[in-house]
Amino acid sequence: MSKTDDDVILHVDDLKKHFKVDEGWIASLLQSVTGDDPDYVHAVDGVSFDLKRGETLGLAGESGCGKTTTGMSLVKLHEPTDGDIHYNNKRLSEASDEEIKEFRQNAQMIFQDPFESLNPRMTVYDIVAEPLRVHDIRNETARVQRALEFAELMPAEHYFDQYPHELSGGQRQRVAIARALVLDPDFIVADEPVSMLDVSLRAGVLSLLDRMTEEFGLSVVYISHDLSLLRHMCDRLAIMYMGKIVEKGPTDQIIENPQHPYTQALINAVPVPDPDVGRERVELQGEVGDVIDVPTGCRFKDRCPKYIGDVCDQVVPPLEAKSDTGADQDIACHLFESAEGYDPYAELDGGRAENATAANDGSESAPADD
Ligand code: SF4
Repeated sequence: MSKTDDDVILHVDDLKKHFKVDEGWIASLLQSVTGDDPDYVHAVDGVSFDLKRGETLGLAGESGCGKTTTGMSLVKLHEPTDGDIHYNNKRLSEASDEEIKEFRQNAQMIFQDPFESLNPRMTVYDIVAEPLRVHDIRNETARVQRALEFAELMPAEHYFDQYPHELSGGQRQRVAIARALVLDPDFIVADEPVSMLDVSLRAGVLSLLDRMTEEFGLSVVYISHDLSLLRHMCDRLAIMYMGKIVEKGPTDQIIENPQHPYTQALINAVPVPDPDVGRERVELQGEVGDVIDVPTGCRFKDRCPKYIGDVCDQVVPPLEAKSDTGADQDIACHLFESAEGYDPYAELDGGRAENATAANDGSESAPADD
């Protein structure tokens, strides 16, 4: 990204988040004696993308693929192990305390479970007002009222003194949305925002999220395993597998013309209500690989129905534009010819399979502290 690109609110560059495996004090003691390296879970392992102003981006993938950890890193609920996040062209790792405070005001998150994310001992008013107090912002009552009414909790005063347990699941999620909006943020990460809700309540909350994006001009990262939902909500999609993005591009293009074998399998698993619509079957075999002792080469190789041998085994497929696929669609797979002229077979011949060492040693980055 050009560092003067005003269109891009968030530029994520090779983001990594590794968690040290807690093996207990005996193992820690032994490691300190033997000098062995501790193990790390490679939850997010080199993710890059841009989020434009007013854009909605979906992060999709199976449970454990790293999408929630990515989302939490974007709003600084996790400190990255390595890589950079630029907000408004400013590298966050170099930001001053004042700039971080401003970032925290502008970056909000809506969590999956509104019952867990709302403090049960606080009233609705205090839950929504709390971020205003943290950031020392005035006109508290008017702003809380406006946020609750935007979230269609009306009249707002009726909810001020209620506690989360007195509300329905849908109302709780609306309070969480009001809390996220009360600071007038620039962007929001919404992690499975309706998955805990009853089906009958989902449509209402989704249309509220849609309206939120439209009226506030927000940029939103939606995290979900539900491709039907993401298709409805997002301009672009990024598909994650074992801590990496394997395919990204415009939503319609990814859904209608998926190229990566993993994306094809995910889309294949979405039920189609029309029995006349046929799809090429792409069956997934095996289990998700080990995110501690990360395999060499392509991380999807043990489940891939289109595996093509040594190059998949040994060379990490870079996420890049391909010459024979849709514009603006990046794919991490050796089946396609690189638009930039990258030749993975040269890595095989030259014996430069950097992945063989880098992916496995767990020491490429500073240890995570959480
Ligand atoms: S690189 Fe090889 S193993 Fe990986 S998705 Fe492509 S064909 Fe399958």
